[in-house]
Amino acid sequence: MQQPLQLPVQQPPGCARSSLLSSSHGAADANPKGSAVCSSVSGNPYAGLVSHLRAAWLSGKTRPLEYRTAQLEALGRFLEEKKQDILEATALDMRKPSFEAYFSEILLCKNELNDTLNNLSHWMKDEHVDKNLVTQLDSAFIRKDPYGVVLIIAPWNYPIHLFFVPLIGAIAAGNCVVIKPSEIAKNTEKLVAEMLTCYLDSDCFAVVTAGVEETTRLLENKFDYIFFTGSPSVGRVVMSAAAKHLTPVTLELGGKNPCYVSNTCDVQNVARRLAWGRFFNAGQTCVAPDYVLCSVEMQEKLMPALREAITEFYGPEPRNSPDFARIVGDKQFQRVRALLSSGRVAIGGQTDEKERYVAPTVLADVQPSDPAMQEEIFGPILPIVVVANMDEAIEFINARPRPLAIYAFSCDSKEVNQVLERTSSGGFCGNDTLMHVTLTSLTFGGIGNSGLGKYHGKFTFDTFSHHRGCLHRNMGLEAINSPRYPPYTQQKLGLMTATVEIKRKGTCTLL
Ligand code: NAD
Repeated sequence: MQQPLQLPVQQPPGCARSSLLSSSHGAADANPKGSAVCSSVSGNPYAGLVSHLRAAWLSGKTRPLEYRTAQLEALGRFLEEKKQDILEATALDMRKPSFEAYFSEILLCKNELNDTLNNLSHWMKDEHVDKNLVTQLDSAFIRKDPYGVVLIIAPWNYPIHLFFVPLIGAIAAGNCVVIKPSEIAKNTEKLVAEMLTCYLDSDCFAVVTAGVEETTRLLENKFDYIFFTGSPSVGRVVMSAAAKHLTPVTLELGGKNPCYVSNTCDVQNVARRLAWGRFFNAGQTCVAPDYVLCSVEMQEKLMPALREAITEFYGPEPRNSPDFARIVGDKQFQRVRALLSSGRVAIGGQTDEKERYVAPTVLADVQPSDPAMQEEIFGPILPIVVVANMDEAIEFINARPRPLAIYAFSCDSKEVNQVLERTSSGGFCGNDTLMHVTLTSLTFGGIGNSGLGKYHGKFTFDTFSHHRGCLHRNMGLEAINSPRYPPYTQQKLGLMTATVEIKRKGTCTLL
């Protein structure tokens, strides 16, 4: 078995001040600007930190393009210089294979960063909009304003990616940010707390290390935006806390992502793409295909193809493969293992509690009432539920909460389009799994139970920008305005109507 790698804890020079802004669990008073001030003001251990960031935001320092660019470039240096530390920390947390860690935690983050740096000056520009006759000589535009002080709360499964990508957009949009990484991925959390802050302006960006209790206190503070990634149940807690301050939120949640496999498909290709998407990061991926819907004939064909794909990827004994991750913690392991009692174990099924190992597993003939179909699997288990045809698969999907992703495999593109047209989900990928996430040009986000809001690429910048509608009028030319002033007359109303009315295209004005 691969030995866990030891994480070298480095303290780069010049880092001491900024890393103090990270507080450890239950020890928010480690932050001199934060807890010391706030304890005396409101009793909340994070109030001082939030007001410190707010003062920095109000000073306007985060607004210039040059400042934002410099902070984003610093994020790029963090990724580059701490690459090895990231690979080691994620290996310690869940034995994430370095290929998977590089791809998901570094490469995809770099892509987001470069896309943002390449386009930021353009994205930041005021968007000039159409005007009516009265405002023809004025300036009407949408200003992309920063929200202010924003909070990013991240889960443990992609412990860098899931705070880093929102952080890029938050910085790009000119906000100050509190970052709350997951306490479950503890080695990565430590790395972020100790090292990320060394790269960023500590007046404007802070990492708070916090468990549930501390995060509850953190959420008592007023933020101007909250970006949360995690489970639907905690999403509700975060949204309730945000509602107290009328704070807008993005909720990136989880759920069960169905994968329909039609009878007309290349079974070998389907099996490889499906196995890759399900077993990447040992299934601990929010967009992983959660279960397969197919005919009984396709289940028969898929089984040997999936067995072949699993052996090709991880060898005859996946436990010994350096390319297969482990479950992140004991609690999560117990939960995943309990799902194995569903249907019939057709492939895999072995577990090892000491290592938190669950073999890549395929369950056949799973019933909708089985445990594996009652919750998001979030582990390396793929249940197959038999349906009569595509119509029944669509009915099955539509009878359940709307998922983060839907997958459909078919050589007949009409069938793929049917699944797309007749269902609803956060995202969609035809004839593959996960790959839609690699495009910064696509929105990423849930709908209904799988979340609220969207990000990636420009959408992250837009998420963290308030689109402020602005009209800057000419001080003179008062004659243009007089029709709107009292005393009102029929003639003034006619003039007003003629100058501001929007007509339906193609309607006959004579009638
Ligand atoms: P989680 O909801 O338990 O925790 C997420 C974050 O919320 C963590 O930082 C945690 O410290 C904090 N938190 C937990 N309980 C809290 C509470 N009561 N009050 C305030 N904060 C609290 O989720 P997780 O176990 O870390 O991650 C797994 C879940 O996240 C799965 O449901 C998965 O689908 C989802 N997820 C979604 C996406 C997405 O992009 N939509 C990505 C990754 C994971």
